[in-house]
Amino acid sequence: VAHKLLEGSLLEEARRGSREALAELLSTDLPWLTSALAEEADRSMKAHVGSKVYYRGLLEFSNHCTSDCLYCGIRAGNTEVERYTLDRDRVMRAVAACIDEGYGSLTLQSGERRDPAFVEYVCSLLREIKEMSRSDDLPEGLGITLCVGEQDEAVYRRFFAAGAHRYLLRIESGSPELFASMHPESQSFEARLSALRSLRRVGFQVGTGVMIGLPGQSAEDLADDILFFRREGIDMIGMGPYIPHAQTPMGSGDRLTPAERHRRLRLSLRMIALTRIVLCDVNIAATTALQALDPLGREMALAAGANVVMPILTPGEVRAQYTLYNGKPCTDEDAGTCTVCISRRVASTSRRAGYNEWGDSPHFAERMRQAGAPA
Ligand code: SAH
Repeated sequence: VAHKLLEGSLLEEARRGSREALAELLSTDLPWLTSALAEEADRSMKAHVGSKVYYRGLLEFSNHCTSDCLYCGIRAGNTEVERYTLDRDRVMRAVAACIDEGYGSLTLQSGERRDPAFVEYVCSLLREIKEMSRSDDLPEGLGITLCVGEQDEAVYRRFFAAGAHRYLLRIESGSPELFASMHPESQSFEARLSALRSLRRVGFQVGTGVMIGLPGQSAEDLADDILFFRREGIDMIGMGPYIPHAQTPMGSGDRLTPAERHRRLRLSLRMIALTRIVLCDVNIAATTALQALDPLGREMALAAGANVVMPILTPGEVRAQYTLYNGKPCTDEDAGTCTVCISRRVASTSRRAGYNEWGDSPHFAERMRQAGAPA
């Protein structure tokens, strides 16, 4: 690998989307290789999207969920979770904090519900947030990303009309077999893919991602995931390590050893770096799950091609109830602490933060330009 890498051929093949080259780079767990890929990704990031870090304040507004994903701590079947939905007042207080911090964009995330009352609640929140967030600093209001799972295309249209313009829906794994092994039969890979395509038709900037280090996942699977992102014309990527949750069918009895945590962190960093190297102009998030593996996990991702961070705005008193995986960081803190911590984290990477900017994905603008629509 060292020889082929020095020659430049392996990286060149990976850049062009060779499955074999990507798999070889992903499966070679050498610290120097991980650093070399991060440096290459950093160059690509600076050339295609610039070096600014954009914020999306993350508000986990409800943990009610009708899905039963076998890996997720807030799955419907986990009866040990106390369920909550933040009322309008608490949502608006968090939104005000988001604006005060100059984050520019907000992400509203929750468990999955499809009932009319939920859809209506989300639409009314979107309208109100859009309205109250317009100011001289933010003439268009906050940029809003939604992350509320699979919905009908008609519902996606309502969300879009109400003011959301980005949507995150992870494919979880681009391998239909792996997807099937982690979900009950009622959830299908085809339905998830079709939802992603609906989002694109509706006009959203579309984000997706996968979990890294899943049981049974090969380097080839991860290489395919990157090629999946490219094939589907994805605008934004949010991905992180799979971390077991003890109260789930997949996670019970599975404890990561320190060695495994480090391996999974390095694999995640190579995955982020290669995604940047292949996709070039997308936005890539340095996700919180990375920090669960290493206190500096998010900073490492920012140095490996990521350009978005999502400081948690969820009120401290419900944070622990939004535990998707064990060891989720920051669950004993509140928004104020996160703000100071995140701005220090970004400052430590000597990158500039895009305060009061939406920081949209340049890939989306390019997509619009090619479709002949004004960006
Ligand atoms: N219900 C929403 C959002 C909440 S879950 C949705 O379906 O989009 C957000 C993400 O957390 C999931 O897409 C999944 O990739 C991630 N996640 C859930 N459980 C996890 C675990 N055990 N380890 C790592 N990531 C996990």
